[in-house]
Amino acid sequence: MANEQLYNTKCAGVKRLMKEAAELHEPTEMYYAQPLEDNLFEWHFTVRGTINTEFEGGIYHGRIVFPPEYPMKPPNMMFLTPNGRFELHKKICLSISGYHPETWLPSWSIRTALLALIGFLPTQGGGALGSLEYPKPERQKLAKASLAWKCRECGCVMKDTLKPLTEESEKDSQEASALAEKVQFKAKEPTESKPSTETENENGPVAGDSNSSNVENSENQNFAETSPGNSSETPSASNPAPAQIQTPRFSSNFTNRHHRPSDCDFSLFITIPLFVVIFAIVALLLARRFLLL
Ligand SMILES: [Zn+2]
Repeated sequence: MANEQLYNTKCAGVKRLMKEAAELHEPTEMYYAQPLEDNLFEWHFTVRGTINTEFEGGIYHGRIVFPPEYPMKPPNMMFLTPNGRFELHKKICLSISGYHPETWLPSWSIRTALLALIGFLPTQGGGALGSLEYPKPERQKLAKASLAWKCRECGCVMKDTLKPLTEESEKDSQEASALAEKVQFKAKEPTESKPSTETENENGPVAGDSNSSNVENSENQNFAETSPGNSSETPSASNPAPAQIQTPRFSSNFTNRHHRPSDCDFSLFITIPLFVVIFAIVALLLARRFLLL
């Protein structure tokens, strides 16, 4: 990957993203995600519509943007392909239940996030801002239409992006459903500027739905679907007591499109030696004073 020359590979975030990029290099039946050529901190993903739901048969594309602090802070995701469940081009934070509230677990990965997203597609939007309540037939139409959808930025055509479904896919599919029971997807706060150069919505939400014309305009969305997270499949780092699962939020900044990851642990290298030097000088001065007395 060309990125290796561009980024400080000692930075935890860079290391982690490169590792995940290598692990996800091959498309699977259910998902695929890779960084953009020129920005390790922005990826495009493709996910298969949830099996046995109105999204079955659909393949959807989107962006993932990582904060400089990743994996300590979670990524944000947004859909680019019309799907009838999430508004397009809206940054959504994925919140995964964990032991500590407001905490993203660094052990969660992009794969986890993608599976959670797949599992979450068929859940009720509950009328929350940012979620779309298209009727089932409309979603099915969009699912069909999605196969021909092409990303203008990375060139992916949906029907060619994932591996064909096999029996193996069932496992991922089940994992996706299990994850969906303990996640939240929340719209970002409207404080940040909206990306203005997004790929456009080619297939467009189907006519007759009042939400469709407002897709670009509703900045302030805050949809949060919750569910009692007592499912058993939790990623390695946390296996919280089922009754106590809480819902940390992904609350990363979305401003790092051209972030330089070498900054991320730079301050530590400065502050720690500085403290040591100051401490040594003070100790020396004190010692000298006592000796002179
Ligand atoms: Zn793309």
